[in-house]
Order: sequence, then structure tokens, then C-alpha cells
Amino acid sequence: MNTNKGKLIILSGPSGAGKGTICAELLKRLPDLIISRSATTRAPRPNEQRNRSYFFVSQETFLEMVANSELLEYDQHFENYYGTPKKFVLDMLKFGKDVLLEIDVRGALQVKQNFPESILFFIEAPSEKDLYERLVKRGTENEEKIQIRMARNKLELAQKHKYDYCIMNDDVDRAVKEIISILNQRRQQQ
Ligand code: 5GP
Repeated sequence: MNTNKGKLIILSGPSGAGKGTICAELLKRLPDLIISRSATTRAPRPNEQRNRSYFFVSQETFLEMVANSELLEYDQHFENYYGTPKKFVLDMLKFGKDVLLEIDVRGALQVKQNFPESILFFIEAPSEKDLYERLVKRGTENEEKIQIRMARNKLELAQKHKYDYCIMNDDVDRAVKEIISILNQRRQQQ
């Protein structure tokens, strides 16, 4: 597949690395950037309004979307499905918009295969201890689920060399500035 207009910008990284905060800051600082909203079968968290962070759908609906080729990529993560609705992203790219995807490593690598010019950022937290503390502080998962996420984090970390850039989220403002500076350089190279 080839898109010679907008670019796909993909952020992945361990649970608790601060991807959500970085995405929110990128959207504030880059007014032309559009975020893709994923579909998921996960239940909404108390702070997530229905259809705001995600399209919350049943497993049946999700599998229908897969069968109808409505997803750009999808993955099963912690017993739930997550996927990127295809039409919205392709329409935005056609309009020349850059589209931000916050998705897991398997999803990101699927997208990179189909869109080699997409730009992949792996967001890292300073240490495992730091990640654990951020997950506890976030308060959205119990200890058992935190441990499952920590195990998955290790698997994802082992794949970070496949990313175009690794960004250390030791400080949100610094990390966001680093990403924006890379995006500006890439634009100049075009
Ligand atoms: P959470 O349940 O914490 O919102 O998300 C769990 C994981 O699913 C995160 O690593 C997040 O990046 C990933 N994720 C969210 N949306 C998508 C998606 O559309 N596709 C894929 N492959 N992963 C996603």
C-alpha cells in the first residue's frame, strides 16, 4: 500500500510508560495532527467515557469488523481485542493529514509492513520499578492485572530495536519536544 500524502505516526511502549500523556501533548502542540481512535472489546475504565477514548464494542461486533476487513491492524491483548478502524485513517491520509496511532508492538509492526513510510516511536520509562509505580498510581488495574501487564511489557521491550526511534519518557516535556523535532526533520527530508 502506498500513501504519498499524510504520514502514520505510531507510538508504542510498555503499559505505564506514559504514551497517553505524550499523545495528548502531541495533539495540543501539533494542531494538524489527527488521532485514530481504536475499537476494543475491553470494558471502559471509570474515567473513560463511552466512545471517547475508544470505540467500545462487543466481541461479536469486533469479529465482524475483522471479517469485513474494516481494520488496518488488530491484536489480542490481555484477553481483549484492540484494532484500528481502517477507513478513517485512510481518508485522513488521503486528505494529507498525519495520523497518530497509539497501539501495541504487534499492531505497529503490522502497520509498518503495509505502510513502510510510517514513523514508529517506542516510548520507554526510565526503569521497571518506575513502570510498576506508575501502574499502581494510575489505579486502573488490580495487582494481578498489573503483574500481567509487567510481563507483557518485557516482551514488548524485547522488540524495541524494530522501531525507528526510542524515546525515554523521563520528562514529558522533553520527550514530546524530541518527538516533534524528529517529525520536523523527517518533513524536511521529504
Ligand atoms: P489499554 O487497555 O491500556 O487501553 O491498552 C492496552 C494496550 O493496547 C496498549 O499497549 C495500547 O497501546 C494497545 N492498543 C490500543 N489500541 C490498539 C489498537 O487499535 N491496536 C493494537 N494493536 N493495540 C492497541
